[in-house]
This record gives sequence, C-alpha cells and structure tokens, in this order.
Amino acid sequence: MTGVSGDGPTREQEIRQRLAYRTQGEWSYCGCGHCGLVWSIEADFIVASASIADKYDSGPTKEGRIANAEFIANAPADLAYLLGEVAQLREQLAKQEGR
Ligand SMILES: [Zn+2]
Repeated sequence: MTGVSGDGPTREQEIRQRLAYRTQGEWSYCGCGHCGLVWSIEADFIVASASIADKYDSGPTKEGRIANAEFIANAPADLAYLLGEVAQLREQLAKQEGR
C-alpha cells in the first residue's frame, strides 16, 4: 500500500523495491503469440506468462498476447530507465531551487 508523506514508503520507493526484488538481469519473451512466455536470459527460467487459456477461448488476441509478453519482458528495463530519469530530474530541480 502506498503511504502518504511521512507514513510508509512512497509509490516510487515501492516501485524501486519491486524492481530490486524481481529476478535480476534481462528478460525476453516468445513472439509465437500462443504461450506468452517471459523468461530470464541469465537465470534461464520462465518468470511469467502473458497467455491465458480457458474453455471459452476468451482473452487477448494473438497480437495482444505478444504485446503483453513484450510489455512484461521490457518492464524491468523500462522502469529502471524511468526511475533514472526521475532521479535526474529531482537532482536538477533541487539544484535550481538551491537545495
Ligand atoms: Zn511461444
């Protein structure tokens, strides 16, 4: 749960913690459009699947499963990039404000 100022971790701290505790290294995904598998390249095991299958054959289309797997596989690197940008912008803002 996200705390408000002064009571518990901020949303950003929670994101940083989730990023730190995940399976480390680069993740990749299968583009077949069926399995939706996402795996750790270094650890060589599956970390997630963006595919759902049920008897009604509902859920995302083939393209949707590929897009979801791609999103999951790139999430750690994308989050790390964005958190780096946030830190840089905070630093610039602090300098401008003379802190
Ligand atoms: Zn596949």
